[in-house]
Amino acid sequence: MSRILEGMGASAGRALGPVRWIDWNIPLVSHRTINPDEVESEVERFGQARARALEHVSRLQAETTHRIGPFEGKVFESQAMMIEDPDLIRGTLSYIRDNFVCAERAFDWQALEMRIRMQESAHAMLVDRLADLHDVRLRVLSHLLGHGDPSDLVTEGEEPSILVGDELPPSIAARLDPERVLGVVLSGGSRGAHGVILARALGIPVVVAVGAALESIEDADRLLVDGRTGEIRINPSPQEVEGFHRAVAQATHRREALQRVAGKPTKTMDGVHTVVQANLDLPHEAVDALRLGAEGVGLFRSEFLAIGRREIPTEEDQFEAYQGVVEAFPGREVTLRTFDIGGDKFPLFLHLPPEDNPYLGWRAIRICLDMPELFRNQLRAAVRASESGNLRLLIPFVSTVEEMRRSRDLLTETYASLGLTGSGIRIPLGVMVETPAAVETLDLLAPYVDFVSLGTNDLTQYVLAADRGNAKVGKLYDPLHPALVRMYRRVVKESARYGLDLSVCGELSGDPLGVAALLGLGYRKFSVSVRGLPEIRELIRNVSAKELGKLMRKLDRLESGDEMRRALAQYLADRGVLPEPSPVELSKE
Ligand code: PEP
Ligand code: MG
Repeated sequence: MSRILEGMGASAGRALGPVRWIDWNIPLVSHRTINPDEVESEVERFGQARARALEHVSRLQAETTHRIGPFEGKVFESQAMMIEDPDLIRGTLSYIRDNFVCAERAFDWQALEMRIRMQESAHAMLVDRLADLHDVRLRVLSHLLGHGDPSDLVTEGEEPSILVGDELPPSIAARLDPERVLGVVLSGGSRGAHGVILARALGIPVVVAVGAALESIEDADRLLVDGRTGEIRINPSPQEVEGFHRAVAQATHRREALQRVAGKPTKTMDGVHTVVQANLDLPHEAVDALRLGAEGVGLFRSEFLAIGRREIPTEEDQFEAYQGVVEAFPGREVTLRTFDIGGDKFPLFLHLPPEDNPYLGWRAIRICLDMPELFRNQLRAAVRASESGNLRLLIPFVSTVEEMRRSRDLLTETYASLGLTGSGIRIPLGVMVETPAAVETLDLLAPYVDFVSLGTNDLTQYVLAADRGNAKVGKLYDPLHPALVRMYRRVVKESARYGLDLSVCGELSGDPLGVAALLGLGYRKFSVSVRGLPEIRELIRNVSAKELGKLMRKLDRLESGDEMRRALAQYLADRGVLPEPSPVELSKE
């Protein structure tokens, strides 16, 4: 029997392979005192090491921009900012000048202090930046100690393996080769950490926040990693390995089958037309989304522009990013979600003390309406980008009609400020239904919106009072709980009554059983993470919307999500879509 560890899934996909520990340790720094007449030369040495570190970081940024994309390259901007951080510089200089210690000792003390301050802050954004600080500390120290740049140490040529470590520094992540690195498992980390964002962009499965249990992994172990559920099986059984290989073979088969129908609409067996769009976390994912047949973008998470930034992203930066995606999908909808920051994503420019309940706190539209300069910039950039194609705007985390009305007013003002008055708002405006309040008041919200997007991830945590990121209540967090299924049905009915276009963008639309349920409830438009596109498109082509409609009505009185899942899996197995009554998902390619 394999042992199981649980973390948080941070980049979907499965991987199987031997362990390789991330060797990215801070070198030992000896305590060397200096004479007063050496002070200035140590200050100079520190200045030179910083300059070299900055040079390397900008080289890494250029390489990453070239290899992955311009926004992924920007990950290294926060490291450049750290190297130039006035507190870090001032503190180091005062250790050299006042305590008469060598530059490396002074810098290391100061970096350590900064690390402790970050760890003590419960702020998710600062905790996200720990891996950046580790990178910076290692890089500046290596230069001071004459070791060269540490990212040159990334070794190639070993057998394909699963990287295991405390964090994934961006310098390592940017150079990962998906052929050699099958997956990543971290004791710390978070979905928003820069290294994790890069690994995700490279399509490498990642599990974060495994905690101290990571130490139980031994060098000779083999791991089976599930980057969606966060489950890690240590030394999987032959049956588990066989299941993994079967999933890989299915994924390959599915891809080949889909290649043949690429560009064709996704219809159910009984001829019901559906639309399958992509969820994008980063603009560069548009390329894969197109290749995998996405019919537009149902959710473009704009937060990537704000995370890790000390300053509000400029209108121009945003315009370029939005326009790029709009142009990648000519004639197709691109649904831009306004900044969903707060919760677990805090940009540095918010300067916020930690909140006791961040998911119930200052988040998304609440922040945007309280910071009109932030919101106006985004609206202007979006309206300008909409001139190049079919852009829609989606407002997250709406809980009051007032929020929607004010968003609409601000959008009207934006048109006026751009001199585009006369024909009213031309950009479709939508509400994300992800709070129980939005479900209950869809009739009141309807006059202010053109479309509805169901966000099952947040709706589940708010309806069931179960934190979506807390593994302890993971079993309670069930998007197919009867309370939610009833709400989904209600949203279909209300949207139809008010003539609102309806789609689903939560993870449930990337889960085969979830899509089967949603099809049965009447949903016809799905927005799915890029890697999930092939599987979901294939599933839709092999089921009957009519049969699923009947089935869902029959299941209306089931008492739990598990029972519903079993019934749906049975239906899919009968249709030959899933070989066993469990969700088979895309595995490592
Ligand atoms: C959701 O809540 O369902 C959703 C799609 O948004 P996010 O996961 O970005 O909060
Ligand atoms: Mg959400």
